[in-house]
Amino acid sequence: MNEQVREDFPILARRIYDKYPLVYLDNAATTQKPRQVVEAMTQEYYNANANVHRGVHFLSQQATELHEESRDVVRRFLNARSTSEIVFTRGTTESINLVASCYGQAFMKPGDEVILSEMEHHSNIVSWQLLQARQDIRLRVIPIDDQGRLRMDEYERLFNERTRIVSVTHVSNVLGTVNPVAEIVRIAHQHGVPVLIDGAQSTPHFTVDVQAMDCDFFAFSGHKVYGPTGIGVLYGKEQWLDRIPPYMGGGEMIKNVSFERTTFNDLPYKFEAGTPDYVASTGLARALDYVSAIGMSRIEAHERDLTAYALQQLGNMPGVHVFGHQPQGDAVISFRVGNIHHLDLGTLLDRLGIAVRTGHHCAEPLMRRLGVEGTVRASFALYNTRAEVDALVAGIERVRKMF
Ligand code: PMP
Repeated sequence: MNEQVREDFPILARRIYDKYPLVYLDNAATTQKPRQVVEAMTQEYYNANANVHRGVHFLSQQATELHEESRDVVRRFLNARSTSEIVFTRGTTESINLVASCYGQAFMKPGDEVILSEMEHHSNIVSWQLLQARQDIRLRVIPIDDQGRLRMDEYERLFNERTRIVSVTHVSNVLGTVNPVAEIVRIAHQHGVPVLIDGAQSTPHFTVDVQAMDCDFFAFSGHKVYGPTGIGVLYGKEQWLDRIPPYMGGGEMIKNVSFERTTFNDLPYKFEAGTPDYVASTGLARALDYVSAIGMSRIEAHERDLTAYALQQLGNMPGVHVFGHQPQGDAVISFRVGNIHHLDLGTLLDRLGIAVRTGHHCAEPLMRRLGVEGTVRASFALYNTRAEVDALVAGIERVRKMF
């Protein structure tokens, strides 16, 4: 699929420092955008720009239709039952903050507990710590084993009568571990506890089905799945979204306002105060159409092949240590090379046109568990090639020889 697909992404033709072809392996941070996404957004600004849900005029109705059709594209992508369950947010971070804040306000008292895991992104830790500061809740943490898998036996032991919610990532943005989310949900539900899944790193790589997982909330970001920045989604089962209070107040989210009493709008608008990014929702819908047309299973197979190839190549190199990658792991590889500092390695690879991530990847507790300050991370997308893996390996070899 690659040659034809790569042409959809103009940025991939760039030369870095006017010299090297771009080898973009920082897809877990954000993906590049195909023409189909950028052009749809440009066309909307040129031809159909008007504020949504408010106007009787032609353009406003057209913009509203586009925005609501996009919500249905997201619904289908996640296999949600209804568009009432699809809330547009700014991204995974805002979606998690919304749940922590609103679910916390409605259902958690001092001393109540949330279960997280040791491999969470800061957005799924700090949001709960803010709630902790406000409402004196407790954070309980599922440990991981040395292979980077959740300790499911420990998970089961964390439940008690104070457990109110479980909030865990679907895929680790550092280790590529794919967590057994259906099992996590099943166990939580046995205890009558709802589950939020952070899908920032799963939605770009394989089919996600919120009904099959039976999760209560699911968060993801548009920009990690070839869509624009500034838009993301919170899926929530209606039974929960109905019962939790709004996040922000403003236009769109109300039915009637008076100084004495305000009534809130229906789902999902109750959670969408203010003018939404209706152009970004179009971009997100075109991105989801794009990956759906290729086929998520094809994307998954391609990325698995690349990841296996990269692991095999890195495995043959002396001094390379890969952190906890599973055979069924996702398209993310974190590694270290001898004693070379991750920042030095990343900087020197950049000089060769190779874009990788270095640092703690917004997962400092996980770094502490791994006993490192940071790693180098290569992460793949549908447009990456084996030749790019070879370029990475050759780049590492070159840097290694310099040290
Ligand atoms: N969770 C995970 C697992 C992530 O990888 C990221 C992005 N690195 C986030 C949450 C936050 O996503 P965003 O910055 O798009 O809100």
